[in-house]
Amino acid sequence: MRVAVTGGCGFLGSHLCEALLRRGDAVVCLDDLSTGQPENLAHLRTYPGFEFIHADVSVAADVPGPVDAVAHLASPASPPDYLRLPLQTLAVGSRGTENALELARRNDARFLLASTSEVYGDPQIHPQDEEYWGHVNPVGPRSVYDEAKRYAEAVSLAHHRTLGVDVGIVRIFNTYGPRMRPHDGRVVSSFINQALRGEPLTIYGDGKQTRSFCYVSDLVRGLVAMLDSSETGPVNLGNPEEWTVHDLAELVLDITGSDSEIRYHPLPTDDPVRRRPVITRALEHLGWRPEVPVEDGVRWTVEWFRAT
Ligand code: NAD
Ligand code: UDP
Repeated sequence: MRVAVTGGCGFLGSHLCEALLRRGDAVVCLDDLSTGQPENLAHLRTYPGFEFIHADVSVAADVPGPVDAVAHLASPASPPDYLRLPLQTLAVGSRGTENALELARRNDARFLLASTSEVYGDPQIHPQDEEYWGHVNPVGPRSVYDEAKRYAEAVSLAHHRTLGVDVGIVRIFNTYGPRMRPHDGRVVSSFINQALRGEPLTIYGDGKQTRSFCYVSDLVRGLVAMLDSSETGPVNLGNPEEWTVHDLAELVLDITGSDSEIRYHPLPTDDPVRRRPVITRALEHLGWRPEVPVEDGVRWTVEWFRAT
């Protein structure tokens, strides 16, 4: 296959590009480098099937020559990033998704949308399966991301229903691992880097809120399975292992051996109280389930940050 990956310089996108190249696919990465890092792709440039196009896909997503699949991952994803880039986040979720869909339609290609557990907002049903419509504040600060992704899902399904585009939607739950930016503000990367520097770990709120953390290699296996399938979805991809933020902080302190203290800060507006995926659909339709326990994944991520 020749796969166009938007957002391929980012954390998840670079791992997806690598997985596709390793199995022999050709990859065209489109990225505007707004939150991605070129060094994420440095080792991929040696693959003959790898191409990079510096492009803002909110303006255009053009790829010379045929493509068999489009994986649309371009979007700021860390809360500090999308709060810093609110209009760009809305643009890439809306116009960026439309442009990527048009690229797929023109090529009669499979289209994979990287949606998010944030479409469930601050969920009132726990755990969350794909039938749940969510509980999103449409005018709160997080809405620039949540509503952009909800629109992205809607416009993708409209292209599927009216134009016959072969769409597959995955809703990704919190994923972590090597190649996260140390200061991207997400909880795993923040805690690990604070612990390694001997700085206080910053817990927002009382730390009793939960997230379910998936290691990147597991998640990328799920993305590839969805790309290869003809499922429309949406399909949750995440590890149902649910942790409080406080317990995650303790785990990071334990693994790093750091004597950093924990400092409590105000909880951001509309921060979801709890989140855990039901992954029956992924298991039944894609044969996918995560395999890496959080303790192992965090240890490997700590090793990676130590080495970089
Ligand atoms: P990331 O910020 O590391 O990567 C996003 C990439 O998209 C970056 O390389 C950035 O430069 C690029 N980008 C942003 N806007 C662009 C534009 N207009 N044109 C071209 N490129 C653009 O984030 P990530 O964690 O790798 O997330 C990738 C995708 O997965 C996002 O769509 C995100 O919403 C989704 N997702 C991620 C998680 C997670 O836990 N990592 C969870 C849910 C959903
Ligand atoms: N969080 C925290 N300290 C940090 C960064 C995040 O306590 O330094 C909390 C955040 O408030 C949220 C959880 O950790 O409750 C997960 O945050 P993240 O930004 O990683 O993901 P998201 O909120 O998008 O699920």
